Amino acid sequence: MDSFLVNNTIASVEIDLSKYGITGYSLVLKREDLLHPFVSGNKFRKLKYNLKAAQEQDHDTLLTFGGAFSNHIAAVAAAGKELDFKTIGIIRGDELKDKISENPTLSFAIDCGMQLHFISREAYRHKDEIEFISNLKDQFGNFYLLPEGGTNALAVKGCEEILSHENDSFDYICVPVGTGGTMAGLVKASNENQQVIGFSSLKGTFHASEIEKHTSKNNFNITDDYCFGGYGKIDMDLIRFINEFKEKTNIPLDPVYTGKMMFGIMDLLKKGHFKENSRIFAVHTGGLQGIAGMNQKLKKKNLPIIE
Ligand SMILES: *Cc1c(COP(=O)(O)O)cnc(C)c1O
Repeated sequence: MDSFLVNNTIASVEIDLSKYGITGYSLVLKREDLLHPFVSGNKFRKLKYNLKAAQEQDHDTLLTFGGAFSNHIAAVAAAGKELDFKTIGIIRGDELKDKISENPTLSFAIDCGMQLHFISREAYRHKDEIEFISNLKDQFGNFYLLPEGGTNALAVKGCEEILSHENDSFDYICVPVGTGGTMAGLVKASNENQQVIGFSSLKGTFHASEIEKHTSKNNFNITDDYCFGGYGKIDMDLIRFINEFKEKTNIPLDPVYTGKMMFGIMDLLKKGHFKENSRIFAVHTGGLQGIAGMNQKLKKKNLPIIE
């Protein structure tokens, strides 16, 4: 199979905490954002075994769902192009129909050959219902269905591969959380003596139940203390932090997931949350394609952008 499905091993880099005035800890960031130029980070992991299954089941079309700036939509569009699947994206918000050219994520998806289908927010709420899916089959023919955000059992299996035995010496494993699928894979692949900490990108810690669907281990906890008010919400502190982090480390962070996680890790380090002398492993889940869309919104509001 193509290079796309090779289990790439990706660099982990030590973050120089002295630049943040922090000593006595070690923080390593796994650069999953570098896995693939267009199918970045955890979306690559989540798609891997699903794409294999779609090929094995002789599907020629992938169908999935997402919002206006969805990393998952961009990833499915790019993967489909690379592996010769037709792709259909059901997009939340029919008002976006006339704004494709202004939207970097949707323009990218179209350029990859994805067919976009816009539906109202109300209709979108029914996307997991059998009748809704069966209507889509009437409309588009047969397809391999990828759920919103890409989380299913095969996605979790792919995310287990983020961790390896080389990472056994870490005390904590940190990851951003959307649906919790990526975190479920990390919990499954972790050792019982490691604590997996999820930084939610949205309000609430309901994802625990998603994780419990995939594993009975309980060496994890989720915080929404660093969600900055909700999904896709940011403030000046976060923008400043992301720009400063890039200046100090040369590593870009996205505003929806990895920026919030890293802000949270630094804050917890400063507050002495982690055991003394502990080793922390953080996963850069990618998502950098979302920066352009966020900067567009920031410019409209005359706010500083993500550099
Ligand atoms: C989608 C996404 C997440 C969330 O992953 P889940 O498995 O849904 O929790 C985290 N980081 C990035 C960059 C993402 O694109």
